[in-house]
Amino acid sequence: MTYQHIDNHGKPIALPVNKVVCIGRNYLDHINEMNSTISEAPLLFMKPKAAMCNIANDIAIPTTLGPCHNELEVSVLLKKGLKNASEQEAAEAIWGIGLGLDLTLREVQGALKKDGQPWERAKSFDNSAPLSQFIPIDAFGDLDDLTFTLTINNEVRQSGHTALMLHKIIPLIAHMSTIFTLDAGDVVLTGTPKGVGPLFEGDIVSISLHDYFTLETKVTGE
Ligand code: ZN
Repeated sequence: MTYQHIDNHGKPIALPVNKVVCIGRNYLDHINEMNSTISEAPLLFMKPKAAMCNIANDIAIPTTLGPCHNELEVSVLLKKGLKNASEQEAAEAIWGIGLGLDLTLREVQGALKKDGQPWERAKSFDNSAPLSQFIPIDAFGDLDDLTFTLTINNEVRQSGHTALMLHKIIPLIAHMSTIFTLDAGDVVLTGTPKGVGPLFEGDIVSISLHDYFTLETKVTGE
């Protein structure tokens, strides 16, 4: 199914679908659960267009490559291109905010890390970025005071608060634009708090963004 960004009424947003730019290790509690170290410069990686899919459809996970972990993250949809942007320019380029999963093949990632190889095989495969609808930015106050939750089969697995990000949303986007030109229609995934773990076929997954929305979906095999 061809992916398109949608708004809170389920209507397509008139922006192209481009890339996803992600940050790793942006919450201390997740760094600790992974026994990782804090990166001096933000740890950035990308997912291609084919990674994006609508989370309201089933979450189709690879079934032959070891555990596939949930990482629930606040997502940001950009409406303008950014290159070496100031924080003000970054703030003005935001179309809206939603949630996304940075699906991660954890054993594959472990092997890649051990070998010093890049992470794409573990994180950038097709459908590795299931995305929610986006709520227009005007509906938001302080982006550094948003809570978000993921439950699996009615059990809370992840409970995040953007105040706890090491690199906050606006400065992060400005920084990303110094490394990669960001384009209208790009999505930024802003990092996961603790609570990552394996997804299983048949799991019922519910995600909530503050008071904005709660959405339920299901895990299937591809
Ligand atoms: Zn992540």
